[in-house]
Amino acid sequence: MSIVNLGVPSASAPGPATVLAPRRPTRRIQVGTVAMGGDAPISVQSMTTTPTSDVNATLQQIAELTAAGCDIVRVAVPTADDAAALAQIAQHSQIPVVADIHFQPRYVFAAIEAGCAGVRVNPGNIRKLDDQVKEIAQAAKDHGTALRIGVNAGSLDPRLYAKYGRATAEAMVESAVWEASLFEEHDFHDFAISVKHNDPVVMVRAYELLSAAGDWPLHLGVTEAGPAFQGTIKSATAFGALLSRGIGDTIRVSLSAPPVEEVKVGIQILQALGLKERKLEIVSCPSCGRAQVDVYTLAERVTAGLEGLDVPLRVAVMGCVVNGPGEAREADLGVASGNGKGQIFVKGEVIKTVPEAQIVETLIEEALRIAETMSPGEGAGPLVTVS
Ligand code: SF4
Repeated sequence: MSIVNLGVPSASAPGPATVLAPRRPTRRIQVGTVAMGGDAPISVQSMTTTPTSDVNATLQQIAELTAAGCDIVRVAVPTADDAAALAQIAQHSQIPVVADIHFQPRYVFAAIEAGCAGVRVNPGNIRKLDDQVKEIAQAAKDHGTALRIGVNAGSLDPRLYAKYGRATAEAMVESAVWEASLFEEHDFHDFAISVKHNDPVVMVRAYELLSAAGDWPLHLGVTEAGPAFQGTIKSATAFGALLSRGIGDTIRVSLSAPPVEEVKVGIQILQALGLKERKLEIVSCPSCGRAQVDVYTLAERVTAGLEGLDVPLRVAVMGCVVNGPGEAREADLGVASGNGKGQIFVKGEVIKTVPEAQIVETLIEEALRIAETMSPGEGAGPLVTVS
């Protein structure tokens, strides 16, 4: 943050969110109750980590993901016991369930018959998938099941490894387009495609190529992105590069962390890009030599105190009077600190000045009071508006 004060912005809010580019037109499909592609909202997905055969544990985790804002959940189906559990899971889940199938084409049919909203197939490791496309397409049509052709760098079709020498963007796209053409030959069009790679640069290139090759809804993912910190950076960078150009219809952040964290990161990425309504947003400064309060602690305590607030409220927590009053005025609520005191702003007006020790409780009190009067969409809008 600059330490040069460029003046206090006006108190007027910066208007509604705009996005960096219009969504690329894709065909719209239906994954259970969730529309995907076309102008449907970009959905957030995750995957359970429980054994799918443990129905109660899996449903419990799905409930936690649902509460966190997950739109679609995927479950692994490595065994016959997992396949047998799908009907109950699909029936009791509040969000659409997608069965993730590798190696065993018979589980594709089992998942469709179990009532899963979608099935992910990996053309790289389902032997004889190509021979069974007709039957799979027919079963999916009969049950209204969507498919995802999920190509993954780690399990690329051996024929394409042989041709390209490694999992290049071109190799993954060739695999996906080939598989898509087989389903389309059988007049089946209700599928999305993913071409995931652990390297964001290769991944972005692959989705660019895929996006230019057809109008399929695209499921974005950086596969095996790593532990939470690294995976968040990789996913945010790659998704940002694509979503900012209108590419991508659904996202899954892959983290070596609990799946609820994936959902939180996914939602934050969409909100940051103006592709999803923002909820509580803490605008806090990084602090610097000018800070006259402990900004880190202040921001953490305010964030913790307002956790779960479900309205688009922007709260500014600023360390000094350089940018403090300006940011605090732009937010729904804010504090500009200095000289052991905090000036509390509400909707651009100073409503009171409190001793430093009372800043947190005053902000929380005022936030809850404002939140009671707000409905979704009434907040100050995004901090930065891009045309
Ligand atoms: S303390 Fe915060 S608001 Fe003040 S100049 Fe430093 S970073 Fe900016």
